[in-house]
Amino acid sequence: MEIKTAALTGVLQRALLLCGMVFLFQPTLLAAEANRLLVCLANAYPDHLAQPSSSDAVYSHAGQRYPFDPKTSYRDFEDELERADLYSQMRQAYQSGPLSTTPQRNEDPGRLRHTPLFLDMYGKTFSEVASKLVTIHWAPCHCKLQFSGVNGAAQALEAVGQEIEHAGLSHFVAESMGTFNWRKIAGTQRLSMHAFGIAIDFKLPKALGRYWRWDGAYTNPSKRFPEDILRDKDFNRVVSIFESHGFVWGGKWWHYDSIHFEYRPELTSRQCGQTANPKQK
Ligand SMILES: [Zn+2]
Repeated sequence: MEIKTAALTGVLQRALLLCGMVFLFQPTLLAAEANRLLVCLANAYPDHLAQPSSSDAVYSHAGQRYPFDPKTSYRDFEDELERADLYSQMRQAYQSGPLSTTPQRNEDPGRLRHTPLFLDMYGKTFSEVASKLVTIHWAPCHCKLQFSGVNGAAQALEAVGQEIEHAGLSHFVAESMGTFNWRKIAGTQRLSMHAFGIAIDFKLPKALGRYWRWDGAYTNPSKRFPEDILRDKDFNRVVSIFESHGFVWGGKWWHYDSIHFEYRPELTSRQCGQTANPKQK
């Protein structure tokens, strides 16, 4: 009996110790994770953002505050898309390289965006964004494209094109379907990343070009994520080249948009992608 009591006491002690450790370490871990995400943002946009000086916001060099609050509650994912702060923008880790599994429901890394940050960086009106566009040489078609010159976006796109041509993969992305376009995202009131001149669509080979709205996905229960878009080895090399220069690919979103690439260096650097979600929905 004494032995049993002693063993029980030992178990209880260990359990209490573990609870204590959880209580002790949980806030520290969360703070470290928050700080990592804030640094990712500041490092991705150094011309606009200052290094983090608090854990609940990021500030521009000019003093503009952009909130970062893991405790904000949203009605649902749509509501979060509408009102995303910088925490929402960063909470879904973007995985570079070929995906081994299809995205889970509402796993759309990059699709949550704090629009005020993009308005301040790239321009608040058609003409303001247009004034910051630069013309680049797009090697896959030896043609010209316009892209935002802010944050190194245009330079990054030009480097992507050169690398794709060098790899002999130009045929996938020789035909652009558009970069800058001052418009809202279909079916929403939110500005598209095309409005900021940091997104590009391509006319992909038929089997690869898939968009969830065109497919009627998620309103029709028989429609599923088009896994085939993740399995083309050569196209995966194209995607990896984009990612290595700071772009995310819409083909990795549950709400897939496989013709779409956008410049989001805060999600694609080695330190900032490929980590577990701190907050699952
Ligand atoms: Zn697009």
